[in-house]
Amino acid sequence: MKIILIGIQGAGKSTQGNLLSEKLVLPYLSAGHIFRELSKEKDPLGRYIKEVMNAGYLIPDARTIEIVTDYLHRPEYQKGYILDGFPRTLTQAEAFENGIDKVIYLKVADKEALWRLSYREEGERQDETLAAIRKRIELFNQLTKPVLDYYKEKGKFIEVNGEKPVEEVLEEILKSIGKSE
Ligand code: AMP
Repeated sequence: MKIILIGIQGAGKSTQGNLLSEKLVLPYLSAGHIFRELSKEKDPLGRYIKEVMNAGYLIPDARTIEIVTDYLHRPEYQKGYILDGFPRTLTQAEAFENGIDKVIYLKVADKEALWRLSYREEGERQDETLAAIRKRIELFNQLTKPVLDYYKEKGKFIEVNGEKPVEEVLEEILKSIGKSE
């Protein structure tokens, strides 16, 4: 089963992604994590990615599509995966016809996400400044919202209230994909 998690920063994608990965015995992969690893490289690409991430902007589509699809070609992802943070633009979604089963949107209000992020441990992520987070939310509304409609039309879209407690959100997701106990 191939599942995509979509939501603004602070919506709980990595929390739910890791829980789903355990429950469904599928690998969890985060586009943001891939880029954070690449940004540690001391080459021009690493430096470029770091700059873009720290500002809260998106890595250009062509590069993102190439990097993420390359990862997904690895043997461990052939039976399925939980993918967080990709696709984030319509161009990415259209280029990525990869047998996706379900797209789960963790809906959380901007205010609630900002509130949650203000309680995160400092120093965990260099790209977690308030300005970068605000930019990411703005870009989500502008570029990622159309992706939700795209998957709605394909009948793969599931919206979950991400403001509920973690266990309830997980249960709602499992129910919606027919994997509830
Ligand atoms: P995240 O951990 O999902 O918040 O991603 C952190 C950063 O990685 C983003 O602000 C972007 O700079 C980059 N990134 C992650 N996923 C994508 C994507 N699908 N397209 C473009 N940039 C991305």
